[in-house]
Amino acid sequence: MSNIAFIGLGNMGGPMAGNLVKAGHTVRGADLVAENRERAVARGIEVAADTAAAIDGVDVVCSCLPNGPVVRKVYLGEGGVLAKLAPGTVVIDASTIDVDSARAVHAEAEARGIHFVDAPMSGGTGGAEAGTLTFMVGGPDAAVAAARPYLEAMGKTVVHAGGPGTGQAAKICNNMILGISMIGVSEAFVLAEKLGLDHQKLFDISSKASGRCWSLDTYCPVPGPVPASPANRDYQPGFSAAMMLKDLRLAQEAAQSSGASTPLGAEAAQIYGIFDAMGGGDIDFSGIIRFLRGEPPR
Ligand code: NAD
Repeated sequence: MSNIAFIGLGNMGGPMAGNLVKAGHTVRGADLVAENRERAVARGIEVAADTAAAIDGVDVVCSCLPNGPVVRKVYLGEGGVLAKLAPGTVVIDASTIDVDSARAVHAEAEARGIHFVDAPMSGGTGGAEAGTLTFMVGGPDAAVAAARPYLEAMGKTVVHAGGPGTGQAAKICNNMILGISMIGVSEAFVLAEKLGLDHQKLFDISSKASGRCWSLDTYCPVPGPVPASPANRDYQPGFSAAMMLKDLRLAQEAAQSSGASTPLGAEAAQIYGIFDAMGGGDIDFSGIIRFLRGEPPR
């Protein structure tokens, strides 16, 4: 069993660290928010005074932080975490961040002989609690092999996407498909309403025809056809529109820096940006159908 530091004990990180405790590891955590530190103690995590104290003498470091600038600040430079770790330490960053920041951390980790992986996840807070997350992992083979047992303690599926940064690339590419497809499915339901076509009929036909996709047959944006979808509970998330907007913006940053043409991704980011500015950020991303009908988010 390992001594693990966990940095960022928020909605995802708290339950993920709790699953490492359940797997028999000793976990020392750090977070800036007192309430999150208290919740972590209830999960059997030892809370350290700060990040430097949390990482002292550990074999493994995990993190789950809000964005790329925070991840760079925590890990890089002389005051950062990487400078204080022994060569051979395993480091897993499960945050969703920009590809360039992930690659900057990879480069410094490699120079210091540290096994770093970028490992963003999908599955939401429910998956974090249940230990059923899917991890998309970028990094060298040896680092991914070293990180795998810890990822498997927090998730059900671990996919090695490729070299440094490709975990983040997989996450934003997938969520760009999702954001675009949810808008497409929602537009079709709004058009059907105008044309007098029943929601259930459109669902029955399109879910067996060429329009079928996850946004339709598993996460349907109108109440009725898929009882478990957030549309049936007034669009309580789920996966919030603000989180979708974050990922769509990361995809646009990556498209610009790599020169990829993503016109529908750009349009989806615009639409979710307006929805967020209208107050829809904390409702489920499938609530975008209200925007397309010209309704307020709530
Ligand atoms: P969160 O805001 O609940 O947690 C982030 C935590 O990091 C907070 O508790 C914050 O206090 C802490 N933190 C910030 N700066 C810190 C620092 N310098 N040192 C130590 N702690 C620090 O967010 P979350 O929902 O847990 O999401 C975390 C990451 O996971 C994000 O990158 C998010 O995009 C990604 N993600 C979230 C979900 C979801 O459904 N919530 C799903 C998939 C991926």
